[in-house]
Amino acid sequence: MPKFDYDLFVIGAGSGGVRAARISAGHGAKVAVAEERYLGGTCVNVGCVPKKLLVYAAHYAEDFEDASGFGWTVAKPEFDWGSLIAAKDKEIKRLNGVYKKMLDNAGVDVIEGTAHLTGTNQISVGERTYSAKFILIACGGWPTVPEFPGHDLAITSNEAFFLNQLPESVIVVGGGYIAVEFAGIFHGLGSRVSQIYRGPLFLRGFDQDVRKTLAEEMTNKGIDLKFNQNIERIEHQNGRLEARMTDGTSASADTIMYATGRRPKTGNLGLQNIGVQTRENGAIVVDAYSRSTVKNIYAVGDCTDRINLTPVAIKEGHAVAETIFNDNPTRPDHIDVPSAVFSQPSIGSVGLTEDQAREKFGPVDVYKSRFRPMKHTLSGRAETTMMKLIVAPQSERVIGCHMVGPDAAEIIQGIAIAIKSGATKSQFDATMGIHPSAAEEFVTMRIKEPEPDACESVPV
Ligand code: NDP
Repeated sequence: MPKFDYDLFVIGAGSGGVRAARISAGHGAKVAVAEERYLGGTCVNVGCVPKKLLVYAAHYAEDFEDASGFGWTVAKPEFDWGSLIAAKDKEIKRLNGVYKKMLDNAGVDVIEGTAHLTGTNQISVGERTYSAKFILIACGGWPTVPEFPGHDLAITSNEAFFLNQLPESVIVVGGGYIAVEFAGIFHGLGSRVSQIYRGPLFLRGFDQDVRKTLAEEMTNKGIDLKFNQNIERIEHQNGRLEARMTDGTSASADTIMYATGRRPKTGNLGLQNIGVQTRENGAIVVDAYSRSTVKNIYAVGDCTDRINLTPVAIKEGHAVAETIFNDNPTRPDHIDVPSAVFSQPSIGSVGLTEDQAREKFGPVDVYKSRFRPMKHTLSGRAETTMMKLIVAPQSERVIGCHMVGPDAAEIIQGIAIAIKSGATKSQFDATMGIHPSAAEEFVTMRIKEPEPDACESVPV
């Protein structure tokens, strides 16, 4: 008789949990995954995938307009939110099925329900109790809305994906990935959009030029950006929502969406009872191998609040499977992780921002370009693209690369390989450009930016 029901019990069938389960099963482990909501987790159901589909949809507004510059006559386009959401839901359902099939094919037991830890080797789901030699917590995160009068009248990204109709006007609150992405989505689909951020400039942590460029481009498109502002109270008024701001002014909208961060969803797992340490925000404390403070319990993905991105969770989950079941201790690598923000225009970034680079190295070489993409010479659109390289002075290695413009994610993914491989500026210069493309700019930048004025005020 085996001592445990399972070698590995995974809590959460999102990106990290599913990868760990499949790879562990492939190494011969007996594995179960408990999932309380939907297979595929946040990314597949209320995150990356549906978001990107809505971003594609939103982009058509400009594509129809741009077409006329190329000789096309397009009848006035009409958009139907219901059709988009139905198509999106159908695709997500298909992906839920793909995840189920993947787990079935790998021989992983899928257990529907909410899991609680009742011991260091024991998990309960509903009426049943399971034992496992190892436990992996991959339960993800959940949007948070600050407490203030009327906060419950606001929606989060979770609900935005399922609205019955496209709101005529939307206030988006927050200045992170989700807020700028949804501001662009709603605006593109035809809503009147204001975005409110509490600080002087949104996307804190991104390169200053990225932040400034995106703010300018979003404003040019007609999104009303309100910085140094916050909401104090929300009330119903004449069938709409009335938001009272910290500066005493008011604004009304059909929908107010909060994108003010996400928290690890660890509150009800029973972690405290068994000695799994968490940080103040509920994030599970783990070591470099994703092991918690209890030696047979691991955690990966957003519930550890390291770098909250799907590919990172997948690598972390894979590494746990290698470490435990393939005699191959593996640390997930969190250095030079590229990321994209699917704002409009989009952002792609890898490596250090200019501020981070200066803090680490002192003076650095900066190459920057802002130009009108070729497509817009005929479309007439005023949108510009910004590209930037940051180079370490001694080694000449390119240590940061940032872009705001169409296809930023597609371009930066390739650049990320060069940066991860330690490419120098002269190796970038020696690379032949692909002409005509925007991406060739990254291998043709020759003129260094002058050193910044020490007195230049920098928003943080
Ligand atoms: P972020 O943590 O990126 O941003 C939260 C924003 O809300 C910040 O601008 C923050 O301001 C602001 N904020 C926080 N608390 C308050 C408050 N009480 N009142 C007003 N504003 C507040 O969270 P998101 O929700 O945008 O995204 C969560 C995570 O999901 C991201 O960190 C990212 O890792 C991931 N993600 C990745 C995507 C991608 O790869 N494209 C897309 C979407 C999400 P301040 O800066 O001042 O703290």
